[in-house]
Amino acid sequence: MKASTASIVGGATTTKSPVAVVTGASSGIGAATAIELGRHGYQIVVGARRIDRLQRVAGEDGVALSLDVTNEQSVKEFVAEIAKRFGRVDLLVNNAGGALGMGPIAQASDDDWIGMWQTNVLGLMWVTRACLPLLRKAKHGHIVNISSVAGFETYAGGAGYTAAKHAVRAITRTLRLELNGEPIRITEVAPGLVETEFSIVRFHGDRKAAKAVYEGLKPLTAEDIADCVVWAVTRPPHVDIDEIVVRPVAQATTWKVARKPGRPKA
Ligand code: NAP
Repeated sequence: MKASTASIVGGATTTKSPVAVVTGASSGIGAATAIELGRHGYQIVVGARRIDRLQRVAGEDGVALSLDVTNEQSVKEFVAEIAKRFGRVDLLVNNAGGALGMGPIAQASDDDWIGMWQTNVLGLMWVTRACLPLLRKAKHGHIVNISSVAGFETYAGGAGYTAAKHAVRAITRTLRLELNGEPIRITEVAPGLVETEFSIVRFHGDRKAAKAVYEGLKPLTAEDIADCVVWAVTRPPHVDIDEIVVRPVAQATTWKVARKPGRPKA
């Protein structure tokens, strides 16, 4: 699905409140994070391809801008609009991303791999590169990258996604080196199983397969991750929370999950 880069919804522009930009905020973790940041006094700017859903997240006070992180022109127009309205970014939450497919490398789908790398890796780099001049205009900048436990673990069938999230982790750690000496904090939030639209997207709309991922355990919610992001960004400006790893109690690793048969969402 391609976004119309011309779509812009929401008119609020205040220079007083800190400006938080959240990518992939039309559902799941991004939506919950944007809403929670709004409750904590941030002026929120949300981006994704589904503008109708974004508009609901932005509400009357936020700004919803069409964004396809796999299209550099779309990224440039998104950031140009933020520059025009606010002139700076205090917080960037790189959240847009996800998994596509789950098969062994021997049968790897080129389309799925390209899609995952474009969204999770190249898109994150494009958004970060374009936002850095605006983050440098803030008194205290902050970049939060939503990676995953897949950023430091592997599992059979997950190589396309784990490789992409390992790359997000490498980019995050490199940014911390490259921005050392500047007042910009870098945080990585690495969730385990969170019940969102993630698995529906991964299994290309197969809701039964998606539901099975969360059966027999209590997964995290998008709000649990929003809570982690808000906690990290509301520490005093000299405190850099490097990384937060957060999983359901039932999940020891990506592949070792305690499930109670016959008891969905135990
Ligand atoms: P989700 O509900 O599917 O949300 C994904 C978001 O990314 C949507 O808002 C989607 O919006 C956006 N997105 C996808 N492709 C995009 C593109 N090309 N341009 C702009 N936005 C795009 O899944 P989620 O669980 O909240 O995932 C959010 C992040 O958390 C992802 O980076 C994911 O890898 C990570 N994560 C999730 C889990 C989990 O278990 N759910 C665990 C660890 C990490 P549009 O489709 O409207 O563009």
